[in-house]
Amino acid sequence: MNIIVCAKQVPNTNEVKIDPVKGTLIRDGVESILNPDDANALEEALKLKDNSKDVNITVLSMGPPQAEEMLRECLSMGADEAVLVSDRAFGGADTWATSNTISAAIDKIGNFDIIFAGRQAIDGDTAQVGPQIAEKLGIPQVTYVQSFTVNGNEVTVQRQLEDGYETIKVNTPVLLTAVKELNKPRYMSVDGIYSAYSKPIPVWGIEDLPIDKELVGLKASPTRVFASFTPPPKGKGRMLEGSVVEKIAFLINDMSEKNVI
Ligand SMILES: Cc1cc2nc3c(=O)[nH]c(=O)nc-3n(C[C@H](O)[C@H](O)[C@H](O)COP(=O)(O)OP(=O)(O)OC[C@H]3O[C@@H](n4cnc5c(N)ncnc54)[C@H](O)[C@@H]3O)c2cc1C
Repeated sequence: MNIIVCAKQVPNTNEVKIDPVKGTLIRDGVESILNPDDANALEEALKLKDNSKDVNITVLSMGPPQAEEMLRECLSMGADEAVLVSDRAFGGADTWATSNTISAAIDKIGNFDIIFAGRQAIDGDTAQVGPQIAEKLGIPQVTYVQSFTVNGNEVTVQRQLEDGYETIKVNTPVLLTAVKELNKPRYMSVDGIYSAYSKPIPVWGIEDLPIDKELVGLKASPTRVFASFTPPPKGKGRMLEGSVVEKIAFLINDMSEKNVI
């Protein structure tokens, strides 16, 4: 079974701080990490590999040259191969152009049974890239995967809902998107780190992909970010005076004025 895991290198947004004077995000010194949902996707692929020698895992990322470091981390966890798709031509892409590029790279890898992506990247936060890749490859997709089993070419998936889950049976080739409840990703192993650093990671640019140049990057992107800004800080807290009944009456009134209730 051939599995492709789509992995994105993202800034560790838990640590992003806001410049109190300029009001902008402080990106300097912010660590880049493997997107958390993608670590869950990779872990699930590795669990399949633990149970069968017949599993080959390729991790695929589109990003700047430094994303190679994150791919080495994935190899150190146990992935077999990694590919970095990197070229200035891909820069500034929105989700549509991103998924064009990634699906072209998947076409080039070829012969896959399962494509795993994270549900969502913690920087762009759109949760669109996985489903768009499936559309462009013309294969079925199941998002919000909280558990699944594989039997031959049949995959049985529990898909997370707000108040439970639904069970879906689907045949390979299929694209799945992972949520964090799926598993706890493993650490890199010492052996894995040694072998990961000696493995070549091919870098594919625009000339290496079976894609029209007009379909990638900023120019091909149907959306444009016109402005970005840091949300204003919340106002000061306010102490309510009076009896409990008066405080509750005040709260109800205040919330209905703000259309919260
Ligand atoms: C107009 C516009 C301009 C933009 N310009 C830039 C820019 O200049 N620079 C920039 O960095 N971003 C830019 N972005 C953000 C960029 O569109 C997103 O980072 C990208 O499309 C992925 O979307 P997302 O982060 O919301 O991923 P999601 O859809 O939330 O990701 C879901 C899953 O898809 C997979 N995935 C997503 N992206 C990748 C990837 N690159 N490689 C491998 N797997 C992936 C992962 O498995 C991930 O968990 C721009 C966005 C817009 C709308």
